[in-house]
Amino acid sequence: MSKSSVAKPKVIWLNTLVFAITFLVAAVGVPWYGLTQGFSAGLWFALIGTIAFAGISITAGYHRLWSHRAYDAHWSLRVLFALGGALAVQNSALHWSSDHREHHKHVDDNDNDPYSAKRGFWYSHIGWMLREYQASRYHDYNNVKDLQNDRVVMWQHRHYLTLTLLTTIGWPVAVGLMLGDVWGAIILVGFARLVINHHTTFFINSLAHIWGKQTYTDRNTARDNGVLALLTFGEGYHNFHHIFSADYRNGIRWWQFDPTKWLIRSCSWLGLTRNLKRTNGYQIEKAKLEMQFKKAKATAAIGCETTLQKLHDEYDALILRLREYYQARKQLLDSKTKALADHVPTMDDMHAKVAELRSAFEEHKRNFKQMLRTPQLVQS
Ligand SMILES: [Zn+2]
Ligand SMILES: [Zn+2]
Repeated sequence: MSKSSVAKPKVIWLNTLVFAITFLVAAVGVPWYGLTQGFSAGLWFALIGTIAFAGISITAGYHRLWSHRAYDAHWSLRVLFALGGALAVQNSALHWSSDHREHHKHVDDNDNDPYSAKRGFWYSHIGWMLREYQASRYHDYNNVKDLQNDRVVMWQHRHYLTLTLLTTIGWPVAVGLMLGDVWGAIILVGFARLVINHHTTFFINSLAHIWGKQTYTDRNTARDNGVLALLTFGEGYHNFHHIFSADYRNGIRWWQFDPTKWLIRSCSWLGLTRNLKRTNGYQIEKAKLEMQFKKAKATAAIGCETTLQKLHDEYDALILRLREYYQARKQLLDSKTKALADHVPTMDDMHAKVAELRSAFEEHKRNFKQMLRTPQLVQS
């Protein structure tokens, strides 16, 4: 037996053909039909709406709800996610979540991470689905026992093929009948839409582990990337996600594009989602400072003991301030809750204390950052 036949498992023809045919029909069909017949504005709207529905069903449903249990959702929302997930053609939620939990548990481990980025762009993007690399655990759902109690998940898993065929064929045909252009709808809302949904999701496994910043951790390859967030409904903040995966948010700042987070939050106001999990601000800030410190240490000349010692001392003092500030903030929040219950009117002293500690911490952080930028640190 030659070495290459040992190294490469069997091709999964169903997956390979689905990816190849949908890509070819979209790449040839869209320009050809667009030039000869033209697509109506209605069809373009249907394309965008369908991309969003299927895409968000994966990010809010398959990913943050089912794989990570970052919040709870009403059954009606879960049914919508199950239908949108079938429309996205990415296997059942049960299977997807099982793969994804392995990815987080063994991230970058070439043997156990199903789409390890260490095996290169092609493998982590699509290659892992084209051959039987994971045959041994294909029907092993031990790591998703909790999801087996979710009736919506199991209903979708049992009827996955039927639901996929009904949604991927039925929906474009229905749109085509409504808008009076069935072939146009099949090409644009059927084929092109599926290819876009596929590859934008796949970018999270490939590009989001290659391109971007390691803001919070360098213990794995995951990156934060605002451009990818635009294409993936907010999943581009993947470095944050890998370190704080139980958080329902990926983009935590108000200006970061994370429509998946906005949807989950808005649904909580309607009572459709509950128990939204957020990471403690102290842990987030600490991880970020730790990374800045680590990078600065790597840049500073190793021989210069005094600079390194000073940097260490400053870092320790800063973390202490951060802890003080968050402790006071927690006390304030606890007292506020109590004050509300007891109808105590003022909390001025505590507010002042928290504000004071916050500005002390911010000032310390500014000084620390200034220190990291000081030229002699690099030169010494
Ligand atoms: Zn990842
Ligand atoms: Zn994840």
